Amino acid sequence: MNLYERDQRALSSMASLRFFPQAAVGGEGAYLIDEHGGRLLDLSASWGAASLGHSHPAVRAAVDRALASQAGASYLSGANIPAIELAERLLSIVPGRAAGRVWLGHSGSDANETVARAVVAATGRPRIIAFQGAYHGGTVGSMAISGHPAQTSVQRAPGLTLIPYPNAYRDGGESHAAAAALRHLEDLLAGPLPPGEVAALFLEAIQSDGGMVVPPPEFFQRVEALCRRHGILIVADEVKVGLGRTGRMHAFQHLGIEPDIVVFGKGLGGGLPVSAVVGPTPIMNYRAAFSFQTVHGNPVCASAAVAVLDTIREQGLVDHAAAVGKHLKNLLADLKKRHSLIGDVRGEGLAIGVELVSDQATKTPAKHQTAKVAYRAFELGLVLYYVGVNSNVLELTPSLPLTHDEATRAVEILDQALRDVTAGRVDDGSVARFAGW
Ligand SMILES: *Cc1c(COP(=O)(O)O)cnc(C)c1O
Repeated sequence: MNLYERDQRALSSMASLRFFPQAAVGGEGAYLIDEHGGRLLDLSASWGAASLGHSHPAVRAAVDRALASQAGASYLSGANIPAIELAERLLSIVPGRAAGRVWLGHSGSDANETVARAVVAATGRPRIIAFQGAYHGGTVGSMAISGHPAQTSVQRAPGLTLIPYPNAYRDGGESHAAAAALRHLEDLLAGPLPPGEVAALFLEAIQSDGGMVVPPPEFFQRVEALCRRHGILIVADEVKVGLGRTGRMHAFQHLGIEPDIVVFGKGLGGGLPVSAVVGPTPIMNYRAAFSFQTVHGNPVCASAAVAVLDTIREQGLVDHAAAVGKHLKNLLADLKKRHSLIGDVRGEGLAIGVELVSDQATKTPAKHQTAKVAYRAFELGLVLYYVGVNSNVLELTPSLPLTHDEATRAVEILDQALRDVTAGRVDDGSVARFAGW
């Protein structure tokens, strides 16, 4: 029995989001190592969580240090140095009005859930605005404020209003898409949705799981102005695209806005489970014992996160992500000229989406072909998954230290995978076992 078969026999499928029979026994930098010693070039980095790559020496050293003399396993009932240092570092990089206090959690889900509860409780306003296609987590409370269609049989919050996220590729270009989405929000706030009842608006600076959708310029500045006028808090969910990935420290810096609350996760821990919320003191200190789980703020994970933040700064990984991301996007733009399956290439830095369509004019989502391309790429030694409300956007969120050569190699493999799928060399049966999402 191979590793993947053992996985299938022992592990529940409820957490599975599988695209091919990936199974690793180790990893190093941008590579995963399979059970035969083969190397897989990992352009997902476990959905961006392995932000420094696999087995980064700084993360290993930090975890070793924290475990060598463990200062408890929690920050609920006592302070520890790594949790304090992590909070201090986050306060120093988050600009302006948000830099009050820091809450630490395990995941983007528990962080967004905490924010959703806190803003409603602290403001006394019962409603929340989020975007159609938004993914803010997989717990009951974070799904309740999400808008992703893959979350079926989910109860959205009674006070949730979902609004359209402007999609320049699908909605007639940047200015048309922005104007339509903005008008939708303005109309809502002018009547059906009393602004005085809205606590917060949750946004992703690039809508990642919704399809790596990059918003049109100035759209979010207009949204910010509306929110300011009505006292609606702006929550930037930076879980996937924050902390250097987009070529800026924060993805919201591309938007020219200043959020009230910033949520971090995934890449913050460099592969360990840790998330953070940074926000104004009146909200973040709303009430003691309001939202906690036992090993929140544990020194091991906090220590890993401190190492991630320090490494990003010391090694200039924000600028590096911008430079390698530009190279990667240029190569993908070239690829688009040679493959009619590619409808759009978009993103910032090392947060890139490649949208596949079966017809350039009608832009019909090539969902099935997307699954095949990801599957074939894996067979050829490249790991990348797909996202999108139509399941047709290949997502590239590699580790930040990705080299120029690794980016080049990844696109060569993707090129081959696209050719093989177009030529009908990938059979339906092999992909059918993997539902994806
Ligand atoms: C992944 C993700 C989350 C949820 O994070 P988990 O670690 O899976 O709980 C929240 N928001 C965004 C934007 C994400 O990409």
